Amino acid sequence: MPRLLLVEDERSIAEGLKVGLEAEGFQVAWARDGAEAVTAWERSHPDLIVLDLMLPGMSGTEVCRTIRARSDVPILMLTARDAEVDRVVGLEIGADDYMTKPFSTRELVARIRAILRRSSGPVGTPDAVEAPVEANGVRVDRARHEVLVDGAAVELPPKEFELLATLVEHAGRVMTRNQLIDEVWGSDYFGDTKTLDVHIRRLRGRVEVDPRAPVRIQTVRGVGYRFADA
Ligand code: CA
Repeated sequence: MPRLLLVEDERSIAEGLKVGLEAEGFQVAWARDGAEAVTAWERSHPDLIVLDLMLPGMSGTEVCRTIRARSDVPILMLTARDAEVDRVVGLEIGADDYMTKPFSTRELVARIRAILRRSSGPVGTPDAVEAPVEANGVRVDRARHEVLVDGAAVELPPKEFELLATLVEHAGRVMTRNQLIDEVWGSDYFGDTKTLDVHIRRLRGRVEVDPRAPVRIQTVRGVGYRFADA
């Protein structure tokens, strides 16, 4: 039974969601503010966190940053407004997905299941284990889920790892936006075209010496991106 941590300060909303999610076979713990959320996460290590952005005290974005700095647990962010800024901020600080209120329990359940499916990853068989790839000082080892940049280990959230792995595996070649989206998100890609750019920007922050003048992850205007092989 997947275990969820629901972070929502409004009791009526939280109780409604809890009942609906439990009816769908999830075990739900409820935290009513950010501090309680971090404590509950440390104590119980849930399979996924449903995190309201608007919380009293410690905000949802702070909670997301705090937990993301220490864990890859999937985080689904709930936002009150359909504001692009919320979505972009949510993805930049490491949320896996977001939903805009109001939404139905059915929609929420579908989204949670999709994230859990993605985060559990493809079933590995010995044949499927790939050799590490390396280009331009960046080494990606899928089998060990490890990235080295100029010899130093770098921790990446799952989508960024997949995106970097895809780029490095195709080093020297241009990957179109659609190819990258297909490889990394597949049919689970949602939202607008900004999602890819947000992830590229975050990756550059991790693998480039100067993210404002990227050398490794190059933009090919109007087409997509290329990982420079030398
Ligand atoms: Ca709220």
